Amino acid sequence: MTDCLFCRIAAGTIPAKVIYQDEETLAFEDIHPQAPAHVLVIPRRHVVSVDECGEPDRTMLGTILLACAKVAKLKGLPQRGYRIVTNTGPDAGQSVFHVHFHVLGGRPMAWPPG
Ligand code: 5GP
Ligand code: ZN
Repeated sequence: MTDCLFCRIAAGTIPAKVIYQDEETLAFEDIHPQAPAHVLVIPRRHVVSVDECGEPDRTMLGTILLACAKVAKLKGLPQRGYRIVTNTGPDAGQSVFHVHFHVLGGRPMAWPPG
């Protein structure tokens, strides 16, 4: 989708600091980091949110979660721990409507989240 920010980043037409990629997945630094480590992991294929995923997306979702764990390792996060978040819809504050998983770490994370 040419009017989707993350499709453009996946296509390379908008620059991003990519830290991991494979056939299905791209991971890049968040432009407004909320923690010392803050990476976004997306599928290259346009999907709006987890809420719009179904059976055909089963493999993609698994691949994305495994990519999140790879990203965490690349950032040196597993020893202290990290958080994976996917905001879905208005109450959760989703602002980019191409499904993405935030990998956050490098500081203690509060619970419950705000
Ligand atoms: P959401 O609010 O939808 O859960 O997360 C969207 C994320 O995308 C935000 O954390 C925001 O900082 C990030 N973001 C928005 N625009 C850009 C951009 O142009 N480049 C990058 N790397 N991140 C972006
Ligand atoms: Zn998209």
